[in-house]
Amino acid sequence: MHETDMSPHTTSIVPMVAARRRRGASGWTHAPQVIYELLTGHHVDLRERVFALLSEPLFVTNPYDSFHALRENTLARLKRFSEAHFFSTIDYVRDPLKFAAAVECLAFLDYNLSIKAGVHFTLCGGTVAKLGTRKHHEEFIPRLDSCDLPGCFGMTELGHGSNVSGIETSAEYDPSTESFVINTPNDAASKFWIGGAAQHGKLCTVFAQLTTQGTAQGVHVFAVRIRDDDGRVVPGVRIEDCGHKMVLNGVDNGRIWFQNLKVPRDALLDKMAQVDRDGTYSSPIANKSTRFGVMIGGLIVGRLLIAQGAVDASKVALAIAIRYSRSRPQFGDRIVMDYVTHQRRLLVPLSNVYALGFALLDVKRMHARGDAGESRLVHERSCGLKALATWSRVETMQYCRECCGGQGYLTANQICVFKTDMDVDVTFEGDNTVLMQQTARPLITAAAKNAGSMLSPPATGHGGGCPIRRAQALMDFRTDALARQAHVEIARAGGDEAAMNQNLDIVIDVGHASMEAFALRCFTDAAASVVDAAPREPLMTALRLYAASRLERATKFYLEYGAMRASEAAQVRKDVNSLCGELVSSRQLELLVEGFGLPECAIRAPIAKDWRALGRS
Ligand SMILES: Cc1cc2nc3c(=O)[nH]c(=O)nc-3n(C[C@H](O)[C@H](O)[C@H](O)COP(=O)(O)OP(=O)(O)OC[C@H]3O[C@@H](n4cnc5c(N)ncnc54)[C@H](O)[C@@H]3O)c2cc1C
Repeated sequence: MHETDMSPHTTSIVPMVAARRRRGASGWTHAPQVIYELLTGHHVDLRERVFALLSEPLFVTNPYDSFHALRENTLARLKRFSEAHFFSTIDYVRDPLKFAAAVECLAFLDYNLSIKAGVHFTLCGGTVAKLGTRKHHEEFIPRLDSCDLPGCFGMTELGHGSNVSGIETSAEYDPSTESFVINTPNDAASKFWIGGAAQHGKLCTVFAQLTTQGTAQGVHVFAVRIRDDDGRVVPGVRIEDCGHKMVLNGVDNGRIWFQNLKVPRDALLDKMAQVDRDGTYSSPIANKSTRFGVMIGGLIVGRLLIAQGAVDASKVALAIAIRYSRSRPQFGDRIVMDYVTHQRRLLVPLSNVYALGFALLDVKRMHARGDAGESRLVHERSCGLKALATWSRVETMQYCRECCGGQGYLTANQICVFKTDMDVDVTFEGDNTVLMQQTARPLITAAAKNAGSMLSPPATGHGGGCPIRRAQALMDFRTDALARQAHVEIARAGGDEAAMNQNLDIVIDVGHASMEAFALRCFTDAAASVVDAAPREPLMTALRLYAASRLERATKFYLEYGAMRASEAAQVRKDVNSLCGELVSSRQLELLVEGFGLPECAIRAPIAKDWRALGRS
């Protein structure tokens, strides 16, 4: 018998909390709550309050909105969200987990709003909070909190996207007027893609090359008014609309030129670098490239949010596709979920969502601890997980779309909206191919130090019969072996940047392999922390599925390196199929989907409820 009783009511986290309070901390009803809290990790109550607000009619998007209506409605939603004061922009530095929890909720519903809020609170507000000092906080934070001063993040230029250190916008200090003069030296240096610039933005954190007393000091950030309180573009600033985009038109991206724009000395966000009245420059960070890393460090939280958004929206798409697939009959008395192809396309991504969710939680907690000794690792992992999570989302949503057949193509069924709106997440907050290199390079450098020592694959018995330990050993081996291979190939080709470029394919593989191995470790730790059998059982099955599916994807590598015999490779394939079967034929799948804790307002797709009723209303 098939279980098709995943009624929409069971997915609301509110009834689940109530159920737990009624029944105590054991038994089946308790399991989704335990899974949800484990996966979410923090600020569960805050999230419930945000979801309650997002249930208001204002937050129901209208696919027939015109270009301009969508922009205005997205702004109205951002204002309503801001008015609720779930957090303050200063929490970006004071309480990063609280900040993240509130902003994360938006990606479950509306990517336009999520990105508009991300630009305003995370990129602009976070930069002011992190790089600004008391005077900036007093002047801007209250107005950012209320969204009275919509913010923009002015980093990218037409000629400089991934290469931020090459930007050309200049900010020259003039001691006679105690001001900086900001200029766009040529069209390629115009700020491009700036979210909020086209219509609504009033404050922009502008990234520019600072020069004082004739010395170039590198990229610094300035808090610049681009529009006055009445919304008029200020003199010295020229703005053009980037125009209609493929999707995501609720965000008004614009292009900005500066012409001799004078801003006061205080416009410099001066926590990490100061310019005295007479133009004397000082910074607690002597090394220019380290200083540059700090200036763009605000992107870490942005990347983690983009990665989390990819994971959270994937939860919604998977929940819709899985529910539909468990109720959709096809060819006689089968349902489409009976097909092993369906199970693989939906359940392997489901296990991946769990793995990535636990990995992101680990990095978010590490970031929130603020330990300077861990900051490099936070940077490397936030880059790698952003790339892995968004690339995974692309694949997951395509599968979800296909698994729903034609219904997946209907806007009302949501999947295609997420799939298209989110297409850009592989590019912004750092292009994935560029970010993965940030993750891989230190691993390759470390591998170079051990290049002389022998690397042998884990013996077949390694793991003592535990498939997870065996998978972890294999995945760690793969990261290490690829890093060594990359080092050897790059050294053979001359050891310079050109040699690196010739071998970028392996470099990206190193980053990918390391992040998958890291995610497996985080998933294992999370599942091991669960004592109760009811939530533990589905988590363990999903964990085994994640491990087996990652090994299966890299079978060619393991066979080539002698780390796996052909018989083990064949077994891995069978394991993936049987673990999928175990999930669908028990309540485990239902528990894992409920464990996402999706709020009612996130699932509006008719196919997730009663697809037979389609067209009846
Ligand atoms: C919708 C949208 C909103 C945005 N919002 C903002 C915003 O609010 N503020 C802001 O400052 N920016 C914003 N951006 C800019 C965004 O951050 C950049 O698009 C991104 O950094 C990539 O830069 P690029 O588009 O110039 O691509 P490029 O850097 O030109 O990359 C093009 C291609 O070349 C490849 N490539 C580049 N360098 C390398 C390398 N070293 N190795 C291998 N391959 C490489 C990339 O993988 C990519 O495929 C936004 C962009 C979009 C599309």
